[in-house]
Amino acid sequence: MKNYFKNIYQAIVTILIGLGVTFRHLFVRAVTIQYPHVKRELPPRSRQKLFVNIDDCIGCMQCARACPVDCITIETIKAGKDEDLGTTSNGQKKRLHVVKFDIDMSLCCYCADCVFPCPTECIYMTPEYDFATYNREDLLIHFAKYTPEQIEALRQREQQEKEALAKAKAARLNAAASNSKKPDSNTAKS
Ligand code: SF4
Ligand code: SF4
Repeated sequence: MKNYFKNIYQAIVTILIGLGVTFRHLFVRAVTIQYPHVKRELPPRSRQKLFVNIDDCIGCMQCARACPVDCITIETIKAGKDEDLGTTSNGQKKRLHVVKFDIDMSLCCYCADCVFPCPTECIYMTPEYDFATYNREDLLIHFAKYTPEQIEALRQREQQEKEALAKAKAARLNAAASNSKKPDSNTAKS
């Protein structure tokens, strides 16, 4: 009987202690947020989603080479002989069309190794962290702006220029070879 009342007493005391803790926290500032309805703003240098300012990219591939998981894919096509692609915002001459620049964020480990070697500082990590998706393909981000038709036209032009160069080289070699076969005029007279 004594134990019976003791248990009731302990239950009441325990409940009161619990309620006391709850009551105290009613007046303490919350440390949690109602994500995803409320989103935390991260510091500007946070390492979250990558971004590439493709207009400043010179297609040097340094970022792709630095990536430890090979999640950056870049394809370039040389600018034509008389083509001027302009300069980047830090004054570097652009000589390549960057026709493909994909980053697979599903593979990225957020190391930022791609950011540091970029000579034009056009690839960087943003504080954007809320890009979870049900579709894995949505995590493959395309930064290049060329349409398939434009890429095809550039490839054809590049091919034509290569062929023209090869022809010119062959013509030079032929001319040199035929010159070396001609008898020397002095030798012929004697
Ligand atoms: S942050 Fe790291 S893993 Fe992600 S793309 Fe850059 S180098 Fe690759
Ligand atoms: S290092 Fe910079 S400039 Fe070079 S390919 Fe990567 S993003 Fe473009």
